[in-house]
Amino acid sequence: MFYLDNAATAKYSPIDDIIVDTITSAMKRYWQNPSSLYASKVSQKVNECRANIAKFIGAKSNEIIFNSGASEGNNTVIRGWVDKWVSNSFENYYGNIIIITTPIEHKSIMNSLENKALGACVWYCNIDKFGLVDINDLENMLSSQIGKPILVSVGLANNEIGVIQNIKEISNLVHRYNGVFHVDATQAFGHIPIDVNELGVDIMSASGHKISPVLKGVGFLYKRNDVNIQPLIYGNQENGLRGGTENTFSIIGLNEAIKHCDISQKSIEEMCLKRNYFIDLLKFRFECKLNGCKEQRLPNNINVTFPQNITGESLLYTLEMSGVYIGTGSACNSKEIEPSYVLKEIGLTNEQAMKTVRFSLPNDITYEEIDYIIEEIDKAIRIIEV
Ligand code: PMP
Repeated sequence: MFYLDNAATAKYSPIDDIIVDTITSAMKRYWQNPSSLYASKVSQKVNECRANIAKFIGAKSNEIIFNSGASEGNNTVIRGWVDKWVSNSFENYYGNIIIITTPIEHKSIMNSLENKALGACVWYCNIDKFGLVDINDLENMLSSQIGKPILVSVGLANNEIGVIQNIKEISNLVHRYNGVFHVDATQAFGHIPIDVNELGVDIMSASGHKISPVLKGVGFLYKRNDVNIQPLIYGNQENGLRGGTENTFSIIGLNEAIKHCDISQKSIEEMCLKRNYFIDLLKFRFECKLNGCKEQRLPNNINVTFPQNITGESLLYTLEMSGVYIGTGSACNSKEIEPSYVLKEIGLTNEQAMKTVRFSLPNDITYEEIDYIIEEIDKAIRIIEV
């Protein structure tokens, strides 16, 4: 089986055996409620994980809020920030707070803004044909709203086209206008180095299952200590910022998983070489067009449009028969028959968007496997075109 849909959820690899073992032994050892007074060894273990995860992104331990993953994290940021100004403030900020985002964010941001940002003005900043934030447009928006509370939310790396934003440049700009900067780092966390201070990020969402498939339903929000938002789920845990008994076992699993993330320059470069080899073959053999930015791109992401008379969906199902698993875009949108809004925003027509697929490669893919997959794609296209 060739699993090329790691952006949907990471492929199960031998390292996941270690994570499963860690979780299984934690279930036997740390089964008490971490909030119980007699269970200090459980709460200590959770805090040890918190400290390690914080260190992994250059944060402080008390800046990590464990949660169920990035959808929750993103919803918390949107509603939690609006609530801070609109529901919990003595002055009336209703209609006078600004959220700026891009039109290519994950659905957990887009739908949250549509449904949970009541009381805020939501603006969508222009992006260029590669999916990169138009810095001038962002500056125009920021400078027209001086004095108002502003939240800017941008994905670090796009889940469909893999474009990596100029986060540091954006954060400098946002802070120059006293805004708060939220970054959805779901696709990047554990795949490329992230240092929240170096990048100037104020709040960041991350998820476990993009680094290990075992870690579904666990993630965290990084929130700089001097940034305030209201909780989405009220309760006692996580310093009152996220109610609900902690998912101790998955948190312990996440702590184990980050130990095995190889984000060294060397392995990122190797991955980019393999990815570029794959892209070159797709262009050479099938005249595919690469979507997104060639240079500022997740090491494992390929998103291409085929010129042949096929649809991404038909290619996906035909390849599945030969054990090759790919995506047509975001897994969260894959049941939609509508062409991807991300692809349309970077200028693809409906027809081009429907002829597009995403390959998100596992780290251990070999050049021989890429050659084999290219032949399988060739066969699949012939079958579909008959
Ligand atoms: N943001 C991005 C960019 C994602 O790719 C995903 C997962 N597809 C999410 C948020 C949601 O993450 P989770 O599955 O942990 O809710």
